[in-house]
Amino acid sequence: MPVLKNVLLTLLRDEFYFGKLCWNGEVDVLDPSVDRLLSESEFWQIQKILGERGLSKPYRHEEVGYRMLIRCGECGNLLTPYFKEKETKSGTTRYYYLRCTHDGSHKECSQVQIGFKELDSQILDLLSSISISSAFFDWAVKWLKECNYKRSENQTNEIDRINAQLKDTQKKIDNLIEMGMLGVVTPQEVKVRKESLQNERYQLERDLKGLNVQTFDWLETAIKTFNFAKNARYYFEHGSMLDKSQILKALGANFYVIDKKLCLDLLKPYFILKENADIVCLENDGCELSSLVSVSANVDAVKSWWAICQDVRTILVASYA
Ligand SMILES: [Zn+2]
Repeated sequence: MPVLKNVLLTLLRDEFYFGKLCWNGEVDVLDPSVDRLLSESEFWQIQKILGERGLSKPYRHEEVGYRMLIRCGECGNLLTPYFKEKETKSGTTRYYYLRCTHDGSHKECSQVQIGFKELDSQILDLLSSISISSAFFDWAVKWLKECNYKRSENQTNEIDRINAQLKDTQKKIDNLIEMGMLGVVTPQEVKVRKESLQNERYQLERDLKGLNVQTFDWLETAIKTFNFAKNARYYFEHGSMLDKSQILKALGANFYVIDKKLCLDLLKPYFILKENADIVCLENDGCELSSLVSVSANVDAVKSWWAICQDVRTILVASYA
């Protein structure tokens, strides 16, 4: 009965029966209202029973962390996450790793895999090194809000000034056209002066646009930055693999692993916090702001807080200018 066996095997291995549609390399899901012959988990149970004759369960890329994010420090290829299953007393445990496949590279590469556990612990160390105290966070947020208030006031004045200039330029253009129509100025003159006025208007409109972009909430970004520094370690410890990837991504750019050591270009604001870890971790309760000048008993620490906040703010504002 080999034919019947083969037919049966083909049926048992057909993913269509739990609703998966494959067509021309595209994957889709069958209309949810259509009854399935079996559920997806039942299907994979059958494959497990079939063993080598069954389909191997596809890797759920979207659920595995650190995908498409970290490169091999030796050959430059993206590291691929994968897992190994080991039987333990409490059941099957998955161990995740990142490895260099050396794909597409003609170079020799001697790098070995790194376990997620090792990687996570290095990231946790990094998150600890940029973390800030609650007191510093509260102080920084107050300070940033006050700065933003002053800045908005200046910006409003600047926007008003440009708008007035724009109105003036438009009036000049209208007058010029009128004078041209009355024959007071030659058409050639109208053309030249109109061009110059239009350039002026264009420049003013650009300035205005730039200012409006600046009024964009850089404050929100600044608060998010400090919030991240304060809480990322906690979220990393309690998050899913995907949360962990997102947290790592938020730390910087150019991630690579060399000899099992994670390297990256840390974002400047976090770099500043890391460099000043001893100061930003201080707990100075009751520090007040008074027009950006501290009136706290612990003036020295707050003065340093001020300098650090100033640096972080300058970087963030510059990146939105
Ligand atoms: Zn490599």
